[in-house]
Amino acid sequence: EEATNMKDLVEQLLFLARGDNHTMHLQLERFDLGVLAETIHAETEMISGGHVFELETIPSFVVADRGLVKQAARILVDNAIKYTPVGENISIFVRNEGGKVWFTVQDSGIGIPPEDIPYIFDRFYRADESRARATGGTGLGLSIAKWIAERHGGYLEVLSREDFGSRISLVLPSSMAS
Ligand code: ATP
Ligand code: MG
Repeated sequence: EEATNMKDLVEQLLFLARGDNHTMHLQLERFDLGVLAETIHAETEMISGGHVFELETIPSFVVADRGLVKQAARILVDNAIKYTPVGENISIFVRNEGGKVWFTVQDSGIGIPPEDIPYIFDRFYRADESRARATGGTGLGLSIAKWIAERHGGYLEVLSREDFGSRISLVLPSSMAS
């Protein structure tokens, strides 16, 4: 398990190093984020027993690097799983609104204290509650997701309440015209 953690950490650091270096090349294509969400939902249900997953999508096209967007989406789902007690709900929504496409993960987990929210995108930052847990992690996930969002002209949006849950969205420019 320690070796796996180490490998994950090295991969995360390499990702950010390449990002800092401007050596990451995007492979842009037009695809439906709703369909990608269906794939992620199915894969997540297969590997992660214990939570109740819901999915609600509408066709929502983006022009983006599919692999990178999937990676960012997984980071959000991975956090929802880590910070939500087993048995609770995790919902994935994809919607298309106001020229933007939203990939939203809503959980009913521990939430994020308001004073921590400004820092959760910083590299290596973990809220106290998370550091104290046995979940593992290095605090790099969201900084990678943020890099991916911004590289596509998008952003991450956070809504969270302690002991109630979090709703974190990856927001990308929509490509509805074909
Ligand atoms: P890593 O993703 O590198 O394995 P991590 O999950 O701790 O580690 P991030 O994904 O960057 O790091 O998240 C930063 C911090 O934000 C977390 O440590 C946690 O405190 C908080 N956080 C992120 N998502 C959630 C969530 N869905 N519910 C509660 N807290 C969250
Ligand atoms: Mg994480």
